[in-house]
Amino acid sequence: MSECTHDCSTCSQNCSERKPESFLEAPHKLSNIKKVIAVVSGKGGVGKSTVTTQLACHTQAKGLKTAILDADITGPSIPKMLGITDKAYGTEDGLLPVKSNTGIDVMSVNLLLDDETAPVVWRGPVIGGTVKQFWTDVIWENEDIMFIDMPPGTGDVPLTVFQSIPVDGIVIVTSPQQLVSMIVKKAANMAKMMNIPIIGIVENMSYFQCPDCNGIHHIFGESNIEEIAAEYGIKHVAKLPINPETSKKSDEGLSEYNLNPFIESMVEAVIDYEK
Ligand code: ADP
Repeated sequence: MSECTHDCSTCSQNCSERKPESFLEAPHKLSNIKKVIAVVSGKGGVGKSTVTTQLACHTQAKGLKTAILDADITGPSIPKMLGITDKAYGTEDGLLPVKSNTGIDVMSVNLLLDDETAPVVWRGPVIGGTVKQFWTDVIWENEDIMFIDMPPGTGDVPLTVFQSIPVDGIVIVTSPQQLVSMIVKKAANMAKMMNIPIIGIVENMSYFQCPDCNGIHHIFGESNIEEIAAEYGIKHVAKLPINPETSKKSDEGLSEYNLNPFIESMVEAVIDYEK
């Protein structure tokens, strides 16, 4: 065996000092992003994009320069929730994000397609490559916080994102069903495997408060989110009620003007979080 050069990239020996290979990609040379938070869910439809949008709207409203990288390539909903209709364009240096009404920088596949209703029928590696390009080829200027709206589940694309983008922390979004608790555990275990700290869990559609009698109804079943959080040593839990106004304002592209107070504690946790 030849003498160790301590440069694993030029050596094929499998010695005890060998460092694991890093697949991390460098951001664009003009980008400057202080904190990257991935918003994940074990399955689709639980409100991951709604929560991503709300977290971003709150941090932007608090004066932090905020970005959203929409990595949900086959189900992109961020531009619509923020009422963005402009398309993204590029310069000689790179691709520029589109600004929302309050100034959130957004990149999403729907900002690149001529027809936003055109389905993205791409294979996994192409989708993963697109997300990587949103990191490497987009100029994210002086962002205090970037939220990544992850594709749901624990498949090929989330894995590529976690391996190629230096995510600082994760927020898990779920809804209160038994089946979902198993799926949440899968997402939490994936985060553990990837060695990325979980900042908190948001239980969305947690309950419905009747506007007439003020009674609380657990439409999707009783919550067991505290137990799951305790099991995984997750400190922060937020519960968001079912609120028809939430989906109405999202559909109208007015999320920025409908800040959800129930997510405030998670916003603080994300802002205070240091890796
Ligand atoms: P995901 O990103 O997990 O697929 P979305 O954020 O797109 O889920 O939400 C799915 C649908 O549920 C959307 O129509 C959204 O407006 C609606 N929705 C999400 N959260 C709530 C809520 N707390 N109350 C009412 N509707 C909600």
